[in-house]
Amino acid sequence: MKKRIENMDVKEKTIIVRFDYNVPIQNGKIIDDTKIYQSLDTINYLLNKDCKIIILSHLGKVKTEEDKMRNSLAPVAERLTEILKKEVHFISNITDPELPEKIKLMPPREIVLLENTRFLDIPNKLESNCDIQISSFLASLGDIFVMDALASAHRAHASTVGITKFLPSCIGFSVEKELAALDKFLNTPERPFTIIMGGAKVEDKLNLIESMLPKCDHLLLAGGLANSFLKALHFNIGASLATNNTITIEKLQSILLNNRDKIMLPLDAVVGSSYDKNYIKYKRINEINENEIIYDIGVKTIEKYKIAIEESNTIFLNGTMGVYEDYRYSNGTKEMLRILKESNKTIVVGGGDSVSSVNHFGYTDAFTYLSCGGGATLEYLTKGHLIGIDSVMEDEEIEVLDV
Ligand code: ADP
Ligand code: MG
Repeated sequence: MKKRIENMDVKEKTIIVRFDYNVPIQNGKIIDDTKIYQSLDTINYLLNKDCKIIILSHLGKVKTEEDKMRNSLAPVAERLTEILKKEVHFISNITDPELPEKIKLMPPREIVLLENTRFLDIPNKLESNCDIQISSFLASLGDIFVMDALASAHRAHASTVGITKFLPSCIGFSVEKELAALDKFLNTPERPFTIIMGGAKVEDKLNLIESMLPKCDHLLLAGGLANSFLKALHFNIGASLATNNTITIEKLQSILLNNRDKIMLPLDAVVGSSYDKNYIKYKRINEINENEIIYDIGVKTIEKYKIAIEESNTIFLNGTMGVYEDYRYSNGTKEMLRILKESNKTIVVGGGDSVSSVNHFGYTDAFTYLSCGGGATLEYLTKGHLIGIDSVMEDEEIEVLDV
């Protein structure tokens, strides 16, 4: 059991918290502040304990100087100030040598947000390579480290893993809630347990499929993922997205052979064409032509999958049924979400695009749990652990000395 924030003596201390403030920003405006709201339980708990709070987060990808311009956390400091009705100090120079002293002089209950930790990657990848010196510097800003960013927990960075080498550490409320939901669902799903998987590339999901197959009763496949399985069964899938790797195809054939009673594949599709952007047609899965591209599942598939859903008690959804970003191919995803909602079963949705599609079609509050950890959620479901959580202290561990 990982150390929980409530089992730490945080009273009047300076607490460094790693959040996931990787929010979508357009023209300097935050367009979805869900992740900021998810951090409030931990912030409010620490404020009630008269702590000083030092917040670390990354935002977007920072590979060049230009990337810095559009990936500043300054708008997050502003939004957090509005939400908390309390000033959040924004520090643009993370490595300011006077910063530890400035923080020491601050009164209790002050909140500081440091600039995007990925700015430390230019030029020397100090954050991403978990540089020991930068980890130690970040640790010198406080007394205790709280890991509260599940979405960043699959990477060993200075602000997630490196810092734990220098400070007593625990998990925050958002990570605790997320892990509890995933654990419950992973270890004791009420059966029949059905997994619905779609999305783009089979290679991205093969490990997840292999680890989840023994745990589930049915696996319903859709999207580009299903194309590769159809190809492995020698269906003509025309110009659809699918793997060309012979080793992967052999693997899919063996998965299909060993799980014949579990796996379901699409019966029909909505297809486009490789030479005509306006072409759209409904096709049975054995009628696809050379130039056609499978972009969505068809009505017969939806009907078949609906029956499997109704016979299940627990359902995990990852990946979209088709190219949901294009309204012409969004019906499969939209209809499946509607059927899932109306089924009133225990439903967990994991994965970045999957959660986005749920929000996009207005089903945000419809399911048991939306896991916002993206790739980290999938890695947790695949491997059963995450490096950024492994590095947090165990409850019985003796606290490491302050630096
Ligand atoms: P998540 O991020 O939740 O793990 P994925 O990224 O695997 O989900 O799945 C969503 C992506 O899969 C979307 O961008 C969608 O366009 C793509 N996709 C779904 N079906 C197809 C298809 N038939 N052909 C190509 N891309 C597809
Ligand atoms: Mg995705």
